[in-house]
Order: sequence, then structure tokens, then C-alpha cells
Amino acid sequence: MAHAFKNCSNLMVTGASRGLGLQIVESLVTGGFSPGKIIATARNPDGAKELQMLAEEHQHIHIIKLDVTCQESIERAASEVEQLVHEEGLNCLINNAGINVVANLETVTADKMLENFHTNSVAPLMITKAMLPLLKRAAAKGTGMGMGIHRAAVINMTSLLGSVELYWGDRANTFKWYPYRTSKSALNMVTRCLAVDLEADGILCMALHPGWVRTDMGGPEAPLSPEDSISCVLSVIGGLTEKDHGSFLHYTGEQLPW
Ligand code: NAP
Repeated sequence: MAHAFKNCSNLMVTGASRGLGLQIVESLVTGGFSPGKIIATARNPDGAKELQMLAEEHQHIHIIKLDVTCQESIERAASEVEQLVHEEGLNCLINNAGINVVANLETVTADKMLENFHTNSVAPLMITKAMLPLLKRAAAKGTGMGMGIHRAAVINMTSLLGSVELYWGDRANTFKWYPYRTSKSALNMVTRCLAVDLEADGILCMALHPGWVRTDMGGPEAPLSPEDSISCVLSVIGGLTEKDHGSFLHYTGEQLPW
């Protein structure tokens, strides 16, 4: 579905310094039909060497500094994005930055819960709020043309581990991670709330599970390479229509239980 990005003028991804965020940028620029502008955010752009190298080779990658847990940084980034997209607005926001604070019932503390919540659940909401005028601008241009990245879409990178329904019975014996699992469950609800609130504006909102992937977070045992995961993820994002609004999808495109 690479060609779908031809109709997406401006795309923004958070956490593009490494892992899946970096792979999204790389796959988009090598995939043939890249968006007009790729806004790749990183909390420490100077340290994001691979991203810098990609941006040197591809003029339509714009690196912006963004610490997703800092409101001042979010507001500064929103005004820099506005300077880049102007009247076109923002067609696709991928809230990808995330952390995994590992703690079970014995080791979990309030601070660990709040740290994971701030990055994984609160930040995507605050970033979406800050980008809303730009998302609305892009969506308004396609009034009457359904929903998708040709108008405006918010994609929240979530995890199967956040599914309340799936964490039961036989499936409940692994990854007893209170902070991460609950932060992704909360992100799922943030996604649903946004989908309800932004439907009238024609902004598609959905949650996407990228699979278990060999990144710093996923670890070396994970079955999927970043290239394979993101190839499927971009195919799903490129093919989104109004029927996917408010949904939780696997990287294969399959519907998942919240
Ligand atoms: P990763 O390799 O650990 O990379 C995490 C990215 O998030 C890095 O770019 C990191 O930036 C950024 N980040 C973290 N905190 C940030 C902050 N406060 N401000 C700005 N950026 C911040 O993780 P990943 O595997 O690529 O995961 C990406 C997303 O997919 C996450 O939301 C994760 O939960 C989700 N996911 C991953 C898997 C998997 O198997 N890998 C499975 C399901 C879901 P720095 O370089 O500055 O630290």
C-alpha cells in the first residue's frame, strides 16, 4: 500500500531516533511513494545519528526536537510543525514513542506506574491535542472523501499486552508487567475517546499493534525484524478507511479485542 502515501502530504512520527520510529522513516523514504514531508521527532536529535544520516540523503525528512513528556516541548514542536505544513495541515500523526517500565506485583511502585503512564498514555493525548488544529485543517480539505491518511489520521502505537480481554486464562502467565500493560490499556481508551470526539471532524483515530519486534524494547528473541513489522504497519496505515475508525488492529490488519 506504499502508493497510498502519495496522497498524504505531511506525516509526523514521534520517537524516530531508533527502533520502530526510525524504521518508519526509513521504510517511507525507501518505499517509492513517500509523503510530501516526513516530520521525524526525537528528544535528542543530536544523538540520533542514523536519523540525521537519512535526513541528509532525503530533503523531505524534517527532524524536530520533542520530549513527549514535556508540555513546553510539545507546544514548541507544534509551532515548528505548523511552520512546515502551513495551510496543508497534518495528514498523519503516529504516536510511536514509548517506554517499558518492567515491574511485577512485588516490585511495582506508584512512581513506576506514573512514569510509564506519562510517556505511553498521557503524552499521545497531549501531542494529539497540540496538533489538532493542523489535523483539522488537513481533514477539512478532504470533506466528503471518506476517512484515511489522504485526510487526517491519528495512529497510536499500542500493544497486544494492553488488551484487557486477552489477558486471562492461559494467556495470563507471561509478562506480568503492571506499568506497561496498564499504560497501553489506557492508551487504547484514549484512542477510543479521541475517535468519538474527532469523528465529526473526519479525523480517523485507531490503535495499532506492531507485533513483537527485535528493537531495544522488543529484545533479540522477538520473531519479527523492524523491516518486516513496519512494512506491514505501513500497509495497514496506507489502507485505512472509515471502517477502521476507532479500531484496534494487529500489524497484519486483523481486528483485535480491546
Ligand atoms: P524502542 O526501541 O525502545 O524505542 C523507543 C523510542 O521512543 C525511542 O526513539 C525513544 O527515544 C522514544 N522515547 C521514549 N521516551 C521518549 C520521550 N520522553 N520523548 C521522546 N521520545 C521518547 O521501542 P520500539 O520497540 O521502537 O517501540 C516503539 C513503540 O511500539 C512503543 O510505543 C512500543 O510500546 C510499541 N511496541 C513495541 C513492540 C516491540 O516488540 N518492539 C511491541 C508492541 C508495541 P530515545 O532514543 O531518546 O530514548
